[in-house]
Amino acid sequence: MNKKTQSKKILPVTSILVAFIIVGVLAVFINSCQKKHVVSNLTTFKSSNIVGYKNKPVVVDATFVPTMNLINSYAVNNNVMVYVTSSYRHSNNNLKKTVVKPASMSNHLIGHAIDMNIVYKGKWYDSKLMSKNNFSRLPFNVRNFLNEIRHTPNIRWGGDFKTQDPVHIDDHYNKNRSNWTVKFNALNNS
Ligand SMILES: [Zn+2]
Repeated sequence: MNKKTQSKKILPVTSILVAFIIVGVLAVFINSCQKKHVVSNLTTFKSSNIVGYKNKPVVVDATFVPTMNLINSYAVNNNVMVYVTSSYRHSNNNLKKTVVKPASMSNHLIGHAIDMNIVYKGKWYDSKLMSKNNFSRLPFNVRNFLNEIRHTPNIRWGGDFKTQDPVHIDDHYNKNRSNWTVKFNALNNS
């Protein structure tokens, strides 16, 4: 009788403890999975008309892929090849520990921007040739490719920036600073 009561009392305490441990382990496991998942949002982009310069991989955030696919369709339409010289850039500075200045909130640091040169009929169009004062002299296909980007809501061509950057294309993700910061921290806090 006495033994039975004792085991009845011990059993619930033990099972509660075991349950707590299991829940704790699961929570840690799920948390680490989520962090890994955020990091793995960076993806190597492959398409017919956008390729890495010197075979460098084109690395972007998964949520930037639809924009990249759209840019690729414009490249196909205009029979141009896009050589990406820079895509995702890993931050060398631990920006999260300081107040991030808007100027340093580059969309490259979160995989939402590319720098590129265009090749049309074997000729390279670099920053100088794509600059605004040379724009009207560009072949129709190159101009049209850039114009299709410019006329798409939420895609920006760096040639339209105050300080022009004709090789740059992004989706203006950094227009919302807190969204940018969340994405940046997710990529750098793992
Ligand atoms: Zn850029």
